[in-house]
Amino acid sequence: MERLSVSVAFHGAKYCWMNGNVVETKDALVSAMEPIHLGIFEGIKAYVEGDVLGRGRLNIFQWKPHVDRLWRSAVICGLKIPYTKDELLEATRNTIKENGFETNVYIQPRIWPRAESPEDVHVVIPVWAFNTVLGKENPRFSMKRRFTISSWRRIASDALPPQAKTWANYGNSALAMREAARLHYDGAIFLDNRGFVSEGTGACIMTVRDGKVVTPPVSASILESVTRATLLEILPDDLGIPVEVRDVTRMELYASDETFLCGTGWEITPIISIDDIALGEEYPGAVTKRVAGYYAEILAGKVEKHRKRLTPTI
Ligand code: PMP
Repeated sequence: MERLSVSVAFHGAKYCWMNGNVVETKDALVSAMEPIHLGIFEGIKAYVEGDVLGRGRLNIFQWKPHVDRLWRSAVICGLKIPYTKDELLEATRNTIKENGFETNVYIQPRIWPRAESPEDVHVVIPVWAFNTVLGKENPRFSMKRRFTISSWRRIASDALPPQAKTWANYGNSALAMREAARLHYDGAIFLDNRGFVSEGTGACIMTVRDGKVVTPPVSASILESVTRATLLEILPDDLGIPVEVRDVTRMELYASDETFLCGTGWEITPIISIDDIALGEEYPGAVTKRVAGYYAEILAGKVEKHRKRLTPTI
C-alpha cells in the first residue's frame, strides 16, 4: 500500500552544512555520546519559482519567521547560536547550490549542545527534495486521508513547551503516529490536556463550517505555526474567508464541513474522515481547494504582494 503520509522523509542529499562548512552528508558525523535530548530544529521549504510542480530557481518561503522561531527555541533551551541569521541564510543557499537542486527542497537546521563542551553547539543544515501535495491537478492532494483522535494528549506547556521546536516534543508526536498506524489510520490529531482540539503530529489544524475557518489558539498547546499565521492573514484579507481563533471541540471536528492540516511539511492537506466519521459532503472541500490553490500561487511567487515572503536562494 502506498504511504499516504506527506510528512518529509530523509532522502540524504549529497551535501549538507555543518559547523561552518558545506560537507558531504556521509562525513557529517558526531560522537555517539552527544546529548541528543536537548536539540532544537526548524522545518523550512524552498519552492520553484513560477510553478511548484516545475523545475528551476528556488525561493525560500517565510525565512524570517522560521529563523526567528529557531532563535526563540534556542532561548528556551539555553542554547547560544554562534552564527547570525544572515550567516545561516548564506549557509542554506550554499548547501542548496552545492547539491544542484532545481526542484522543491526541505531545509532542516538542527542545533544541539556538543558532548565535549555543552556551552557550544553543533549547527547542521540538511536539505532534501520532497514531493508537494500542491499545484494544479496534483493527485497527491486529494488522496483519502483517514485520521483518528489520538489517545495521547498533546504535551502541556507547563511540561514541555509545544511552542519550542525541540526534538523532545516529537516523542509525543511519534507515539501518536505509531498508535494511528497500529489502528490503520493515516494520521492522528491531538487533544490538549483540557480536552480541546490541539494540533496534528506535525501540523496545525483548521476546520470549516458554513464557509468560516476556525483554528485553535496558541494556548491549546500548539506550535506557533508559520503557515497558520500566514493563513490567518491571507484568508480574510485576500480570499474574503472569515477566520476565528478559539478553542475547538472534538465534536466540531467530527461535524465539520471540511478539515485540513496546515504546516510547512503538510502544506495544505485535506482529511477525509476522523475516527471513520466522514467530514462534509465533498472531498476535498471547496474552501480547502481554494486555500491550497492560492497558497501554491504565493509559494510560486505569482502573487506580487506576497513576494516579500520569499527569499531567493541565488
Ligand atoms: N505543529 C507541529 C507539531 C509541527 O511540527 C509543525 C511543523 N513545523 C506545525 C505545527 C506547523 O508549523 P509551520 O507552519 O511553522 O511549519
